[in-house]
Amino acid sequence: MYRIAVISYHTSPLAPLGAHEMGGLNVYVRELVRELAERGQQIDVFTRRTDPAAPEIVPMPGGDSPGQPGARLVHIDAGPPAPVEKETLSDHLDAFEQGVLAFARRNGFAYDVVHSHYWLSGVVAERLKARWEVPHVTMFHTLGEVKNRARISEHEPQPRIEAERDVARRAERIVVASHDERQLLVRLYGVDAGRIAVVPCGVNLDLFRPIEKNEARQELGLREDDRILLFVGRIEPLKGVDILLGAAAQLETEPDCFVLVIGGDSSARSGETEHLRDLASELGIGERVSFLGAVDHERLPLFYSAADVCVVPSFYESFGLVALEAMACGTPVVASRVGGLAGTVRDGETGYLIPWRCPEPFAERLELLLGNDELRRAFGQSARKEVERFRWGNVADLVLTLYRELIEGAPARGAVTFRN
Ligand code: UDP
Repeated sequence: MYRIAVISYHTSPLAPLGAHEMGGLNVYVRELVRELAERGQQIDVFTRRTDPAAPEIVPMPGGDSPGQPGARLVHIDAGPPAPVEKETLSDHLDAFEQGVLAFARRNGFAYDVVHSHYWLSGVVAERLKARWEVPHVTMFHTLGEVKNRARISEHEPQPRIEAERDVARRAERIVVASHDERQLLVRLYGVDAGRIAVVPCGVNLDLFRPIEKNEARQELGLREDDRILLFVGRIEPLKGVDILLGAAAQLETEPDCFVLVIGGDSSARSGETEHLRDLASELGIGERVSFLGAVDHERLPLFYSAADVCVVPSFYESFGLVALEAMACGTPVVASRVGGLAGTVRDGETGYLIPWRCPEPFAERLELLLGNDELRRAFGQSARKEVERFRWGNVADLVLTLYRELIEGAPARGAVTFRN
């Protein structure tokens, strides 16, 4: 059994999903921690307190035994006990570091490894590792330099990129979710490939499973014979919802097709939904696009199952959990050929991958799929089969192997991976 300190400074893994920067990262930490706890590990996840009323310690799902939860969330006082703008988050790193050190001292804990998620957590984890003399495993989830090169979101500040470079140079292991991300770290950040482990993300196959389409539509109050395209994700320019709207407006053979957009504005770009609503009106499809806001994660299988096609038109996606979730529900995916999506969607088998970031090719593939019930069914069935190998349990097994290598001092292999 290892005692693992997980740093999730930027956001709590138990926060509601779909808006305000809450998305794949939260799901990742929650699911990985649950699986690690089920494998008998002891995990403390440290996050910054954003609610004054929250207890210091909250048990997390997975491996609970009375009085000794395998996994727990620890709220650390650092800065105002409220959400803060992400531009000022780094002001509270020192207080956070001191809070984590004090918690460990008070409880007499010695952690075996520290595992950080996202760049600011990586910065804190480097300091903790020096104090505790333990190895550091980090996962960036997204990279500032890559976001800037996509030239579509707000410009990521230089201090972020420098901090990422520093963490990337010093961490014992960097976990990435795709081979594409590994290449980017080598090429843009100069990281030695031997310290990078490729571990694809997982999907909860018990939660995300096919529900009979008409049943799902009835439950959601949607009509059985409508054509429905679905988008799920945080609403921000990098996600390319404008491309989906542009494509929907060009569907000549499916002019009545509906678009459901699920997800809320990220804090830095509030007003993005309004912008997209205006765009839909300008394109003449305002009546056929519904912005549903953020939807509970547990309710999403209904939407994925009710949709004819799930569209993931991102400009950058380090992995793209939404595509996996849709596929697990037996729904074909039409996605940009970027980042991890290129390794999950099988072009011409479970959906289509579009190499260009513009509406026309999306519209062309969507028309093809929407016009052919048999093709959609076949893609949907292949999609469910394809995702069987993406289980959070596999992710946890690989991450545990990494911990073991580092803690037991086994020779570094750096090649922990499974077929992707
Ligand atoms: N999500 C959700 N409700 C919403 C919108 C998104 O539960 O209203 C979840 C979605 O199911 C997925 C995650 O947020 O698990 C988004 O992850 P993804 O990797 O697709 O994008 P990221 O947020 O990492 O950019």
